[in-house]
Amino acid sequence: MIATPSLPDLLPQIYRQQAVTGGLRTWLRGAGESGGPDELSQLRAAKEAAEAANEAKTRFLASVSHEIRSPLNAIYGYAQLIERNQGKDAVSAARVIRRSAEHLAHLVEGLLDMSLVEGGALKLDREAIRFPEFLDQLIAMLELQAQTKGIALVLERPPGLPEFVHADPKRLRQVLINLLANAIKFTDQGQVTLRVGYRNELATFDVIDTGIGIAPEDAARIFAPFERVAGPGADRAGVGLGLAITQALVQIMGGEVRVESALGEGSRFTVRLMLSQPHAPPIAPAPEPGAVTGYLGRERWVLLIDDDPVHLGMVRGLLEPLGFQVRTASDSETGLALAAQVQPDLVLCDVALAGESGWDLAALLRRRHGAGLRIVMLSGEGPQSAGSPQESPANDTFVMKPFDFTVLLDVIAEQIDVDWVRAVGQPRSTDAAGFPPLPQAIAGRAAAHCAEIERLVRIGHVRAIEVEIDAIAALGPEAMSLAERMHAALDSFDLKALASLARSAQTHAA
Ligand code: ADP
Repeated sequence: MIATPSLPDLLPQIYRQQAVTGGLRTWLRGAGESGGPDELSQLRAAKEAAEAANEAKTRFLASVSHEIRSPLNAIYGYAQLIERNQGKDAVSAARVIRRSAEHLAHLVEGLLDMSLVEGGALKLDREAIRFPEFLDQLIAMLELQAQTKGIALVLERPPGLPEFVHADPKRLRQVLINLLANAIKFTDQGQVTLRVGYRNELATFDVIDTGIGIAPEDAARIFAPFERVAGPGADRAGVGLGLAITQALVQIMGGEVRVESALGEGSRFTVRLMLSQPHAPPIAPAPEPGAVTGYLGRERWVLLIDDDPVHLGMVRGLLEPLGFQVRTASDSETGLALAAQVQPDLVLCDVALAGESGWDLAALLRRRHGAGLRIVMLSGEGPQSAGSPQESPANDTFVMKPFDFTVLLDVIAEQIDVDWVRAVGQPRSTDAAGFPPLPQAIAGRAAAHCAEIERLVRIGHVRAIEVEIDAIAALGPEAMSLAERMHAALDSFDLKALASLARSAQTHAA
């Protein structure tokens, strides 16, 4: 295993390197004028820090390449085996290929999470959450996993836990799920306990298991990316990013995570965080507005530019029924010609057009049509990709693919200032309910999975959504209809319908 620095260790180095590079440039500019011994030693320190950060990055990249290579080799090897054996043993080979692909998908997801943290792009939300319900949902989400392994999952909380605390529910949930899922994974007998404490606004979460335990010499290194422990648990180790992400998230939230463990005697991971209490109970959220069915005022023209015909069709299918005049183009040339012809109010432009840059096209459109034309860039890469809105005045805003339709509609309303017409007394999506009510016995667990699906829909995490839908299906035959409808929505990539199903299922108990 290549020794990899932990992510929180890496962060200050990278930031320092960025600061140093800036400082270095300033120093060099003034170097002709001064350059005393103090400045020389500062420069030397700066250079060493930059080199150390570079080395850390290089080692990290070497680990990533190493992690990618093994599953890729398996896929490559087994695919050749199928070719050569002409289908003999194809099923077992396909299983290895699928598992390797899953491993790679987990890896990519973990790396994306890490790049968010590393790039400083992770913004914490601060919401007043219902603390006891939050904990119940968490346990409900993992109960099935524990049951399948025949171990008990226990929530221990003191009486008098505050009803509301301030937290980023998504990130806090991610941290606790990582720890609880590991505890379940590395325990074969006994139980996993989530013990919650709260005193003077300091929350303590102990995740205690009776599993295989961790040797003292391994306890520190498991928080570094890609570190997994050899020995009895090696066969069930995952991609090895869970704890690195957990530790980075906890530190961003201003807390700490520790482990106490001994081989064969179970483990206790402890997270300590300040979770303040709101001064007054939060006001109940406003009811969901009805689904958008159109808009007021003159007819608006929208030009879609994307080289993916599926995407063009999808967005057109959303906007035309609302009364927009939509034109589509799959390359820059057609896009520019159509823009000149129809003078659209709004352009939705993909960042990565085949062989062309969406950013260059946006700049050209801006030059020709002026500031009155609103330009929204769409990309699967994230705003940190080259020429983001902050750096490029050519576009007005940026939306990440895949997006929730309601998010796109919000952006459109903001950009071209339209007032939506909404269906009265209807849920936001037209596709709600339509499945039998869930019996009380499983409604709670289904609601927890649905809450997670809603969260995953917002970030477009399709693979994880599939896992949640499968978990709903596993709740029993009464949940099959809901799971099937969710699968159908996911297959047609109708995330809006999926979110709507998830929302209604949370209140749809028998
Ligand atoms: P992954 O679980 O994907 O392998 P993590 O970063 O979550 O990666 O964990 C790293 C390693 O730490 C695991 O592979 C395992 O060896 C060890 N580990 C984590 N949690 C536990 C636990 N509760 N009991 C025993 N070992 C654990």
